[in-house]
Amino acid sequence: MEKTIACPIRFLKGVGPKRAKVFAKAGIDTVEDLLYYFPRRYEDRTNFSSIAKLKEGQVITIRAQVLTKRGTGPFYRRGFSITELTVADKTGKISCVWFNQPYLKDYFKVGQDLILYGKVERYGNRLQMANPEFEPVSEEGESLSTGRIVPIYSLPERMTQRTLRSFIKHALDEHLPKCQDFLPYDVRSRNDLLNLARSLINIHFPESPEMQKKAYERLAFEEFFLFQLPIVLRKLKRKEKKGIAHKAVGEPLNNFIAGLAFKLTPSQEKVLAEIKNDMVDVQAMQRLLQGDVGSGKTVVATAAAVIAIQGGYQVAFMAPTEILAKQHFEKISSQLTALSSEQKIKLLLLTSSSNKKDKEKIYKNIKEGKIDLVIGTHALLEEDVKFKNLGLVVIDEQHKFGVGQRALLPKKGANPDVLIMTATPIPRTLAITLYGDLDVSIINELPPGRIPIKTAHLGENEREKAYAIAREELRKGNQVFIIYPVIEESYALDISGAKKMYEELKQKQFREFKVGLIHGRLKQEEQDAIMLKFKNKELDILVATTVLEVGIDIPTATCMIIEHAERFGLSQLHQLRGRIGRGRQESACVLVSDSETEEAAARMAAMVKFSDGFKIAEEDLKIRGPGEFFGLRQHGLTGLKIGNPLTQLQLLKLAREEAIKLTESDQGLEARQHVLLKEKLLQRFPEYEKLMIVG
Ligand code: ADP
Ligand code: MG
Repeated sequence: MEKTIACPIRFLKGVGPKRAKVFAKAGIDTVEDLLYYFPRRYEDRTNFSSIAKLKEGQVITIRAQVLTKRGTGPFYRRGFSITELTVADKTGKISCVWFNQPYLKDYFKVGQDLILYGKVERYGNRLQMANPEFEPVSEEGESLSTGRIVPIYSLPERMTQRTLRSFIKHALDEHLPKCQDFLPYDVRSRNDLLNLARSLINIHFPESPEMQKKAYERLAFEEFFLFQLPIVLRKLKRKEKKGIAHKAVGEPLNNFIAGLAFKLTPSQEKVLAEIKNDMVDVQAMQRLLQGDVGSGKTVVATAAAVIAIQGGYQVAFMAPTEILAKQHFEKISSQLTALSSEQKIKLLLLTSSSNKKDKEKIYKNIKEGKIDLVIGTHALLEEDVKFKNLGLVVIDEQHKFGVGQRALLPKKGANPDVLIMTATPIPRTLAITLYGDLDVSIINELPPGRIPIKTAHLGENEREKAYAIAREELRKGNQVFIIYPVIEESYALDISGAKKMYEELKQKQFREFKVGLIHGRLKQEEQDAIMLKFKNKELDILVATTVLEVGIDIPTATCMIIEHAERFGLSQLHQLRGRIGRGRQESACVLVSDSETEEAAARMAAMVKFSDGFKIAEEDLKIRGPGEFFGLRQHGLTGLKIGNPLTQLQLLKLAREEAIKLTESDQGLEARQHVLLKEKLLQRFPEYEKLMIVG
């Protein structure tokens, strides 16, 4: 049998069934997987640092021999132990210490040669390395591990750097000569990219830092390219399908706009014009509308709904939670009252808690076209919901729905226009490439008169200060949210924490006020009842878990205290904060947290510094990296192992342009020079085939 790089890992020399199992646990099933198992960093071991010349603060690699070893502890009560080595090279000696790894004492041998990597620190009047990474020098594989730039991997279980390096070297030697590049030659040469074989060699065993960089670039390009192909193809396909050409002018629309209690902001005007353009076009709209919480997206979406309805079409408006759907329903109902009686829009709310008898009637009315606008939750996706002539689909907070769910609703019509809204904005250039099959509109200003929210960060021992701020607001007759994080994995613990705090606040700090508690395990009706009480000012303080994240609009809620703020992501914090500052008074947000990690501290600082959602999003991207930020699975970004859209935006753009060029000239990837590429794509995205079927 011809061994291709797609062959199972157990066919690699030296890998038996046992090792194959270990590899499988690390996600490595084939030789190819192993070749794409990239180093997490490199060490330049062309020259080791001399111990005599080490300076405090340097991060270095040394090669040295163990002179003495010593282990203390574990100390019974604190479970604390220290392993200490003195190591020496020709120039001098230094001490290395490891904490809480008592087994290391038996692992190291006096006289043994080690390669050590880490930071040089001052300890008293001498230098030491604390918890350095280490690797014993051995005869085997020495040429792969010294005298060169050496790859350092995240290790599969019970494997050493050296064994892994030698397996990878075997894989490269045995399989690369037969490995053909699936990136078409012209794409590579236009973009000055290394071929696959040289890239794989240099990503593992770089000939030089420059070659490592080129290898990295090629492999990142490859990821972006494969990631963009389905996206641009989807867009191309959609263009071929005919949609609805709506009429953008009409009395109802004029009345709706004129009847609003406010003037649209220039941003809203611009975005509405973009939407109108799309809607009158016979091609179906696929537009992503981004705008910060409270920037007025919903009004714009409602205007779009009026456009569709005035031409005789139905509209479906989907929100991720019941509370939010209800709020949209109420707000939209009241905004639509400006329409005259013969233009009246018949709208209704459909959620999973609508009762069964009602539902049947609702389904019937929707099907017969007696309802113009249905606002609801994912209950809209149920099979029984059928439309007579669905002309527009609006999806709010799209990131709360999976891509699959998002695609279901438009299927209930004949290629209706689709408007997707999100309050988790991402920078424009990134949006265009990541949501490459959508057009992007942005509302980048808040309606006038909004007063920015003051945000402060206090430590756990300064909680009283936070309470003082809250008390001041309460005395003015305003309301306060106290947010307590509840994480699914530690639910029981967290919820008891939230309850305990609620009891204490009620009995002690805020005795004279009415305090309520809301959390996600309450029944929907109970949650709604509590929310309603708060909205009606029967409660002054609401202790809440994250159920608040999307939802409610309460103008007299002017203060929010967020407990354990470090446990929230930056975008989540921003969303939470968006629940206050909705009225005409100044609002305050207090983050209570001893943010112990650097990352948490960065999040707190960003919250204090920025109020603009786009700025926050950029910071979030910087802090977390794109994978986490976008929610891996939802955006199909799982394939991105080394490509970072944020730092390699230029490369991502190039990959996108190439993907467009290629799909435009050879939609089905049938040309001979695209055979390998097609294979690769089908391997990476099995569902790709469906996209390629023409028709
Ligand atoms: P989003 O959906 O972007 O979170 P909304 O559409 O719910 O924002 O708008 C937030 C609030 O601002 C609503 O009460 C809405 O009526 C109001 N609003 C929207 N546009 C304007 C505007 N141009 N001027 C004043 N208020 C506005
Ligand atoms: Mg259209």
